[in-house]
Amino acid sequence: MIIKLHDIEESISVRGTMDGSKYKRPDDVDLSFESPIEYELTVSKMGTDVHINGPIRCTLKLGCDRCLEAFSYPVSAYLDIELAPKADEAKPPELELKSEDLNLGFFEGDELELEPYVYEEVMLGVPIKALCDDACKGICPVCGRNQNTETCECGKSRGTSLAEKLQGFLKDR
Ligand SMILES: [Zn+2]
Ligand SMILES: [Zn+2]
Repeated sequence: MIIKLHDIEESISVRGTMDGSKYKRPDDVDLSFESPIEYELTVSKMGTDVHINGPIRCTLKLGCDRCLEAFSYPVSAYLDIELAPKADEAKPPELELKSEDLNLGFFEGDELELEPYVYEEVMLGVPIKALCDDACKGICPVCGRNQNTETCECGKSRGTSLAEKLQGFLKDR
């Protein structure tokens, strides 16, 4: 969704959906979009700056870190950024590191493409460690079966052999 800044008097509401997958970069985490990204943004002019804020929603498909199965992950985020015209970028470098500037970006010209900002905000909502369930049992390190859906005897037989070894050890003493 591209907005033309000269069309905005004070602020406008922009709502719509977008396909997140077209913004995926090769180094992004492995995920897919189960739904389009929905956004409902308010774009306001504040002097020469532009303030964009509003809720973002979508459902992602992530791979579980423990069992590797894909699962649905709803993201509900809130975009809140301020953009300054590119000409203002010539600030001393130390100013750029101030924490209040973290949500500050830049735009050029009269047109503003909102989708990359929406996409970035969704990416910030992706957990570093994705689990299909907090209680996910993961995969068996011996046979590789998904222990949430299958049971295997690996743990048991290992336990038995350990007990046998221990018994043998005690007998030898
Ligand atoms: Zn899992
Ligand atoms: Zn196993």
